[in-house]
Order: sequence, then structure tokens, then C-alpha cells
Amino acid sequence: MSWRASVITLFPDIFPGPLGASVIGRGLATGAWSLDTHFLRDYAHDKHRTVDDTPAGGGAGMVLKPDILAAAIDDVAPEDDPRPKLVMSPRGVPLTQARVRALAQGPGAVIVCGRFEGIDQRVIDARGLEEVSIGDYVLAGGEVAAMVLLEAVARLLPGVLGAQESHEDESFEAGLLEYPQYTRPQVFEGREIPAVLTSGDHGKVEKWRRAQAEALTQARRPDLWSKYKGEKP
Ligand code: SAH
Repeated sequence: MSWRASVITLFPDIFPGPLGASVIGRGLATGAWSLDTHFLRDYAHDKHRTVDDTPAGGGAGMVLKPDILAAAIDDVAPEDDPRPKLVMSPRGVPLTQARVRALAQGPGAVIVCGRFEGIDQRVIDARGLEEVSIGDYVLAGGEVAAMVLLEAVARLLPGVLGAQESHEDESFEAGLLEYPQYTRPQVFEGREIPAVLTSGDHGKVEKWRRAQAEALTQARRPDLWSKYKGEKP
């Protein structure tokens, strides 16, 4: 069984969207992972197929109803479904490469996409949904956030990227940002590729890359830098 994503959304038509392109899309086509979408409105029971209502306590906007969402979740992921149940939310735990890697090692994920002001807290509690944020800014809905998570996971799955080593070296994998990359031409607008990279001395190249990664991380991400230094033996 390949890694399986089930997405509950008011906008199923926008999937797979960017997830259908390039290596991630090829992985979807070849079955390295799978994606099924579920239209939240299909679980509404009144004649207007209502999925939202006004916030208790007043205020602007609308809130997704817990009973409709619970019906969708229970249908998509019955009790014995081992996959973690996530809900995209700016209030969630910020997504990291470590969480992405852990998700990629599991059987898949069930992802609820919020809209409007968000979703009723009781369904989050009752179904044990894990709130996941993709950053400290507010989107209009959870769909793009879910795509971000899925793209990050899918590229780690076996058979999606060509060489396994393609991601071992990357930003965050070693707790550092990645070193700068160069390719031909040798001279671009008067700027040369750093000589060490064309020296053929692999030891020197590796040392240079490590020093660059450390300098970049220290300058741009003091949060990652102090963690990296703290974790070093
Ligand atoms: N009123 C909410 C924001 C609702 S935005 C608040 O202030 O917290 C509508 C939906 O977009 C959310 O339910 C969530 O699913 C999604 N969303 C918005 N920003 C997001 C983010 N940074 N990460 C993940 N999902 C987000």
C-alpha cells in the first residue's frame, strides 16, 4: 500500500493542482502515493447543503459546522484507519522538515481544510485532529496549506525523487540551511563560480559547503543556529 492522502475540502476541484506537475505528479501517476478528495458539502443534510453557521458569541464571518465535518471524517477515516488526522490552521504547530519526514514514514494522512473563520473547536477535540500551520500568516483556506504539506511529504517518498541522496544534503536536513549552488557557465556577467568548486578536491568542496551553510544559517536563522550548536556533540 502506498502513502495515501485523503483531503476533506469545500474545493475538491483545485486538487491535485500543482501536485499533478513534475516529479510529484509523476509519483501520483505511478502510484508512489495516492490522493483522494472529499467534498464537504456532500455530508450536509439540509436542502441548502449548509456547511457553516455564524460564530457563537458574535463576530464576523462563518464557522464550519462540527456535525458535518465529523460525518465527513468518520466516512473518510473509519475508526481503524491508522493515518493521522490533520487540520490545517494558522493556530497549529508550525510544520517542520522533521514532522514532514515523520509523516512520510507513516501510512498517509487525512487532512481537513478549513475555510471562512475556521472550524468549530468541538470537532477538533472530538476527532483528535492535529492542528498544523504552514507559517505565521493567514490564508483564505486550508487547501493551499494542505498542498504545501503534501508536496513536502511526497518528495520524500520512495520512487518520487530520482536519487535518494537528492534530499540528504538539503536545507534543514542537517539542521542548517543549504550552501549556495552553482552551475555552468563558468563566468556569468563577470561573476565566477567559486574556484574551490571546480578544483576537483572533494574534501575541500565539502569543507567549503559546510562553512557556507554554517555562515548562512548563523546570519539568517539565529533560531536554527542556536539549536544546531546546542545539538552538536
Ligand atoms: N480565523 C482564523 C483564520 C481562518 S483562515 C484565525 O485567525 O486563526 C481560513 C482557513 O485557512 C483556516 O481554517 C485554515 O484551514 C486555513 N489557513 C489559513 N492560514 C493558514 C496557515 N498559516 N497554515 C495552515 N492553514 C491555514
